[in-house]
Amino acid sequence: MALHIATPLLPLQAFAARRHGAPVWLKMEALQPSGSFKLRGIGHACETYAARGARRIVASSGGNAGLAAAHAARSLGLPALVVVPETSSERTRALLAREGADVLVHGLSFQEANAHAQSLLGLDDAFIHPFDDPLLWEGHASMIDEVAASGVRPDAVVLAVGGGGLLSGVVAGLRRQGWNGVPVFAVETNGADSYARSLAAGERIELPAITSIATSLGARKVSEHAFALARSHPIAPVVVSDGEAVAACLRFMDEHRVVVEPACGAALALAWRADGPLAAFGNVLVIVCGGATATVAQLQAWGAQLSVPAAG
Ligand SMILES: *Cc1c(COP(=O)(O)O)cnc(C)c1O
Repeated sequence: MALHIATPLLPLQAFAARRHGAPVWLKMEALQPSGSFKLRGIGHACETYAARGARRIVASSGGNAGLAAAHAARSLGLPALVVVPETSSERTRALLAREGADVLVHGLSFQEANAHAQSLLGLDDAFIHPFDDPLLWEGHASMIDEVAASGVRPDAVVLAVGGGGLLSGVVAGLRRQGWNGVPVFAVETNGADSYARSLAAGERIELPAITSIATSLGARKVSEHAFALARSHPIAPVVVSDGEAVAACLRFMDEHRVVVEPACGAALALAWRADGPLAAFGNVLVIVCGGATATVAQLQAWGAQLSVPAAG
C-alpha cells in the first residue's frame, strides 16, 4: 500500500474569474501527511529499498525530504536516521523527532551533514537522496495519474524547482498519460535559481550560495536528469522574487486556509500573475507542493521584512 495519500484537485476560484472561466487547478500536495509532495517519491523509494532488504532509512535533509523519509520509515516499521547541519532550525529537528527519527546534528552546511550521513552508511541501510533518484520520480509521477483519473487534462503545468525531482516526476507522469507536449513552467526564487541559470548557460551551473529564503528550493546544482529533460520536453524556467513568493503564501493562506513554504509560494505567485505567460492556456495545473517548515508567524515576519503588501 502506498504511503502517500491521494490529494484533492481544487479550482483556484478567485483567479478563474479573471481568466474568463479558464480554470486553474490546484493539486493539493500540501495535504500529504509529511507536509509535502516528497512523501510520494520518498515513500515509494523507502518501500522499494525495504522490499530489497534495507533495515534502516538514512537521510541528510533537514527539510521536507528528511520529514518524508522519517514518516515513510515509521510507516514501514523501520528506524530512520536523519543527519542535519547545525544551521537547521529547532522546529525542523522537533518535527523530525516527532516522526520518530534519530536526529544527528553534524557540520555547518548541508554538504557536511550529507557527507557525514554517507560515511555512516552500513550494508543494511538505504540512503534517501532528496531529488536525484529514479525511484523518487516514479513515485512523484503518481500525482499526474490522479489528475488524469479525475478527468482533467492540463494545457500547462506550474511547479517549483529545487534539485528537479518534482519536475522529473511530473514530466514522467505527463509522458505516462501521453501528454508529451504539455508545457511545464518551472519556477524558482531569485537566489535559488540554479535551473534557470543552467538552462540559460547550456550547462549545469553550481550556485556559489543560496541567498533565497525558499530553502526547499536551495539545491546549488540541479540533477543531470532534470537539466537534460529540457531538451526533450517543453520546459520554461521562471524566476520570481522572495517577496512575490511570500506574498503568494500569505494570499493562499487567506483564500485557501492552508500554510505552505515560500518554495511553494513561488509556483503560486506565477499562477496569480494575471498578465503572465499562463494567460494563453486553458486548463492550468498548479502543483501545490506544500512544505512543513513554514509557520504563520514566520511567513508574516518575512512579509513585513520584505515589505509585502497585505493580502486581500
Ligand atoms: C523539495 C521541495 C521542492 C523542490 O523539489 P525538487 O524535487 O528538489 O525540485 C519544492 N517545494 C517543496 C515544499 C519541497 O519540499
